[in-house]
Amino acid sequence: MPSPVKKLVHMIRRAKPLTHDEGMKILARDHFRCQYCGLDGTASFENALMMTVDFIIPRALKGKKDPRNLVAACRPCNLIKGRHHFHTFEEAKNYVLQHREAKRQEWEKNVAAVRSQKATA
Ligand SMILES: [Zn+2]
Repeated sequence: MPSPVKKLVHMIRRAKPLTHDEGMKILARDHFRCQYCGLDGTASFENALMMTVDFIIPRALKGKKDPRNLVAACRPCNLIKGRHHFHTFEEAKNYVLQHREAKRQEWEKNVAAVRSQKATA
């Protein structure tokens, strides 16, 4: 458990959140496409609402507000990645895609169960 002073220093050094303009620059650079799953933020309004900017090294782990540390990401991918630390973007991407796939398989099982319940009701 870090001391209260260390904790305070840690918080002060954390990068500030992105401004709207800073975020838009990253989204434009990445063509409004999630760099993890490829979701196209320009395909529909619903997709546009999904777009966020991800700190590859999270702010909580002292990740910098530097374009090299920032990528366009949809909310689900950003949520799955969370505050995990990865050494490279490829490592982060593999993690996110594996977890998305596991969640998709779980969803398919659940939907199949719901559908079979409906069919017998
Ligand atoms: Zn995504």
